[in-house]
Amino acid sequence: MLYKICEENRIGYRRLGKIIVATDDSSIRGIEHLARQGLENGAKDLELIDEEEIQRLEPEVKAVAAVYSPWTGIIDSHGLMDYFYRKARRQSSVDPLILDTEVVSLSKKSSGYLVEMLSGGERLSIEANIVINSAGLYADKIAEMVGIDIDRARYRQHWCKGDYFSLSGKPPVKMLVYPEPPKDGTSLGIHATPDLAGRVRFGPNAYYVKEENYNIESDVEEFYRDVQKYLPRVRRVDLHPDTSGIRAKLQGPGEGFMDYVIRHEEDKGFPGLINLIGIESPGLTAAPAIGVMVREMVEEILK
Ligand SMILES: Cc1cc2nc3c(=O)[nH]c(=O)nc-3n(C[C@H](O)[C@H](O)[C@H](O)COP(=O)(O)OP(=O)(O)OC[C@H]3O[C@@H](n4cnc5c(N)ncnc54)[C@H](O)[C@@H]3O)c2cc1C
Repeated sequence: MLYKICEENRIGYRRLGKIIVATDDSSIRGIEHLARQGLENGAKDLELIDEEEIQRLEPEVKAVAAVYSPWTGIIDSHGLMDYFYRKARRQSSVDPLILDTEVVSLSKKSSGYLVEMLSGGERLSIEANIVINSAGLYADKIAEMVGIDIDRARYRQHWCKGDYFSLSGKPPVKMLVYPEPPKDGTSLGIHATPDLAGRVRFGPNAYYVKEENYNIESDVEEFYRDVQKYLPRVRRVDLHPDTSGIRAKLQGPGEGFMDYVIRHEEDKGFPGLINLIGIESPGLTAAPAIGVMVREMVEEILK
């Protein structure tokens, strides 16, 4: 869906392909499992490739086997957001984007909801029959405001930060290169991602935080050590702190993987409220599909 949107609306993208590599024999079973699970889940054309094929595709990469995913790619995420905004703008009589305005209260009324907001020190409110809560890092707080017990519902989000380091010099890879993911399910491991300009970044790592700030807090050594395993020629001096992001995870520290939730909360006593909780990766890639799913829920409510 995403490639089609990019193609039809001139949003920058490149279908570079991806390899998930086993750097030694102990990782082969892990990546074989990934390939099987991916195919079962409908990921197209995944293929197990050997050392020789890896060398042909990515000569700098050191690995004994890999899963090759020809459909993986990169997009201009800002171009995509701009497209979504322009599309919503065309279909709305008012500007659908209200900036610098914080929802501070959400309450259920006899019919519908009262949404109260703070904007430039001023308090505003709107009434709505349908509320879609997609507040990212604060989606659990919004759910709590309306009266949902977020611990019982397992909606409490745990912030898990990821830093990136960029690489100076000649890009060592053409496609995305991932290690076997860590078993704890917190991340996909520090991987190499070329951007649309051809520059390569490594990341994101994963560590839980309590506070929202986007400083790079990781040590270059962690990145160097992990990247070395599959790109031995990368030098420590060529790695530079780049950006960071924070994931809204349902999986807390030391817990097993938990998938995100997209749900109409009628059975909790909140008809017309749709919650999107814990929308971490691949929330961006899946955004058009999530949009269709939420639209179907809205159509069901309006019936
Ligand atoms: C390091 C990192 C790497 C990632 N890599 C990928 C990737 O490769 N592929 C992929 O598909 N996904 C990736 N993701 C995940 C992707 O970024 C998210 O799934 C996606 O951004 C979630 O979108 P969203 O609209 O649900 O939330 P957000 O993008 O967080 O948007 C939520 C919005 O709600 C607003 N908001 C919050 N609280 C309030 C309030 N009280 N009142 C008003 N507004 C409020 C926020 O300001 C924000 O604008 C990555 C995430 C991270 C952190």
